[in-house]
Amino acid sequence: MQWPPPERRLISMAALASHPDKAAEDEREAAEVKFKAVNQAYEILYDDEKRQIYDIHGMSAFDGSGRPGAGGPDLDDIINSMFGMGMGGGMPGFGPGGPGGPRRPQKGPNEEQTYTVSLEDLYKGRTVKFASTKNVICSLCKGRGGKERATPKKCSTCGGQGHKETLMQIGPGLVTRAMAECKVCEGSGQFYQTKDKCKKCKGKRVTEERKLLEIYIPRGAKEGERIVLEGEGDQIPDVEPGDIIFQLDEAEHETFRRSGGDLHADLDITLAEALCGFSRVVLTHLDGRGIELVHPKKPGDILRPGQVLKIAGEGMPFKRSEARGDLYLTVQIKFPEDGWASNPAVLDKLRDMLPGPEPPIEAETIDEVDYDPKATMDDFGAKDAHGGSAWEDEDEEEGGAQCAAQ
Ligand SMILES: [Zn+2]
Ligand SMILES: [Zn+2]
Repeated sequence: MQWPPPERRLISMAALASHPDKAAEDEREAAEVKFKAVNQAYEILYDDEKRQIYDIHGMSAFDGSGRPGAGGPDLDDIINSMFGMGMGGGMPGFGPGGPGGPRRPQKGPNEEQTYTVSLEDLYKGRTVKFASTKNVICSLCKGRGGKERATPKKCSTCGGQGHKETLMQIGPGLVTRAMAECKVCEGSGQFYQTKDKCKKCKGKRVTEERKLLEIYIPRGAKEGERIVLEGEGDQIPDVEPGDIIFQLDEAEHETFRRSGGDLHADLDITLAEALCGFSRVVLTHLDGRGIELVHPKKPGDILRPGQVLKIAGEGMPFKRSEARGDLYLTVQIKFPEDGWASNPAVLDKLRDMLPGPEPPIEAETIDEVDYDPKATMDDFGAKDAHGGSAWEDEDEEEGGAQCAAQ
């Protein structure tokens, strides 16, 4: 940000005009506050280093509080209010923030991207390193854009001011003067001639550099969570760099399904295991551990299709805690293949061992029917005796009922 000479002059005039010695007794305290603010603005405008600090951190850098936005009136507000009031009326009041609220220091745009992460990494936590290309302030010219001894040429479009006063309509019949950034010099009020341009950045003030970035994915992190690398965005001269923000996207897992802190998986066992028991590793957990189950828990118990087993404390870890969610297992029974026992004697033996059927159903007439053993429920309801959809059929029936009632 470059403050043009007329504004500097106005500030110094304002400093004189608001000197507490010139104020009446009862207004002295207020005048001292104003005077301090105006003097501070004056100092910032004249001291290059202070102005740079102001441009990056705003007024809070100067009041010693260290809290952003805690500073007094914003420098822009001081200058804007002077322009807005004209110089005859003295300094307007410096309420906190001034008109339009306090202005934040300029900050570059944030870069947001999605980062897909495996459930294993979310379970264990992981540090990921990768190279990224970003703009950094040119190290040769320190962001000036020109050679060391070269002096920039004043921008003729804006008269070196970096911005131009334009008229802006703020309501019906209401026009205000506003400052707009000069597009030719991009607000700097100056540029270097080709021969004076910095060799490294060619006058662009920034260079592209590869930088190693590191993000830490905490264990137990969730889908949609954001990991912020503060100030790692592109560097732009006179602007606080933005952040790089990674939004976590949880990759689908082939074994586990996650809901909050809990995990779910299928427990694939054979029919023999369901009936007779087993003692073995049934699945590999996200950290590579084998999870062993012993069935039955109680002699005689069997497992049934769809039965759910809950294993406490084997779910996802919670952040900054030793607690964990639970693991839910749904029993899936693998039945034998067709023809697994072709010897009828084996089947007879099995039948004798397994519980017998329910008592026979009594009926007056009995039809033996044929069936398709490979049907699916997808076809259920697709057939319609009258043709057309089931909805139209229903309408017809309603119409029929009305006729009958008349
Ligand atoms: Zn350079
Ligand atoms: Zn310009």
